[in-house]
Amino acid sequence: MLKVGLTGGIGSGKSVVAARLAGLGAVVVDSDRIAREVVAPGTDGLREVVAEFGARVCAADGSLDRTALGEIVFADPSARARLEAIIHPRVRRRSAELVHGAAPDAIVVNDVPLLVEVGLAPTYHLVLVVRATEATRVGRLVRDRGMTAEQATQRIRAQADDERRAAAADVLLDNDGELAELHAVVDALWRDRLTPYERNVRERRPVRATEARLVEPDPSWPAQYRRLAARIRHAAAPAEVRVDHIGSTSVPGLVAKDIVDLQLGVASLAEADELADRLADAGFPRCPGRWWDNARYPGDTARWEKRLHGGADPGRLVNLHVREIGSPGWRFALLMRDHLRADPERRADYLAVKRRLAAAGPDLDAYAEAKEPWFDLEHGYAEEWAAAGAWRPAPPEEGT
Ligand code: ATP
Repeated sequence: MLKVGLTGGIGSGKSVVAARLAGLGAVVVDSDRIAREVVAPGTDGLREVVAEFGARVCAADGSLDRTALGEIVFADPSARARLEAIIHPRVRRRSAELVHGAAPDAIVVNDVPLLVEVGLAPTYHLVLVVRATEATRVGRLVRDRGMTAEQATQRIRAQADDERRAAAADVLLDNDGELAELHAVVDALWRDRLTPYERNVRERRPVRATEARLVEPDPSWPAQYRRLAARIRHAAAPAEVRVDHIGSTSVPGLVAKDIVDLQLGVASLAEADELADRLADAGFPRCPGRWWDNARYPGDTARWEKRLHGGADPGRLVNLHVREIGSPGWRFALLMRDHLRADPERRADYLAVKRRLAAAGPDLDAYAEAKEPWFDLEHGYAEEWAAAGAWRPAPPEEGT
């Protein structure tokens, strides 16, 4: 099963995307609708709301008087919090039931207007955000929802800002154009990404790179890391883990293979094994076989064992190295990152080596193997640098 979060500001076109995905076969869980259902006449949710706010929120026919309730909570944040304390747990419970009831190979799309505000992004395999300019949205709300331009603008501005929402997005769907364009993008997303992603999660199959192709530095790599890290931390909870961005995509300005390397620090490899199923379910299946890093300290002969997971998302290649916190391999990854971030000359040297090796051919193993001597040598420089500045691994850069 693949769990997708779908959100977007009012009038952006979220419902249109949800409907298209439902037509393609997704199970859509609509949290607005559920929020209405849990306070429908006869529900304990409605009884509790009336007990809290009085009979004045009850219409003559026994249903919830939304206007009356709206007036109370709009003016009083503590009343709003009390209302949310009644509604939100029920919406969560009902949504979980619906997700649970879906087929094992379902692609479940959770349509949640406040997904970002409530901090739900890490609970999904993928977050889709529909976006349109304010002018487009106001125009649609006036045309289709009978609002005045002032009302529409006010509603839009009361929500999370577009930037915050975009930062949570794995996929941003721009919807300022024709409906047909949006539909075509959604159809391609379904076919090329969501369907294979679901299969990979279910079959626990990591997507691996097939060639050593370098790309120019992508300024969105750190934000991509933060989203992945938040998802991994959520999957590992309540285990005490730490997640770090490592490798070339963590060093600004470096060309790199378009693979985000993350390091999951755990108390022991036994703990790594205990977490493996949860990571796989969250979209990070384990790569079969045993994995080692080359030992690099003088006199250190044994290789450093680790676990390696990949990503199940065909749209985002990931290496998730699971290492024991404080172990030589764990420390080495953080040291090399910080050293390369700090020293432009060594960074330039590494860049030149990478370009030369990648030019030699796309063979991934040969490329990785050929980089090793450079790392062996660089490690010495890095240790000198570390000793001179009393370097210590800094606390991780937290995800959103
Ligand atoms: P809400 O947050 O209120 O649920 P929404 O993001 O779900 O809003 P939609 O209902 O999907 O927004 O879209 C708002 C209106 O704009 C709808 O009437 C929809 O049919 C229309 N619409 C959406 N996308 C387009 C488009 N590309 N071209 C023309 N009309 C569109």
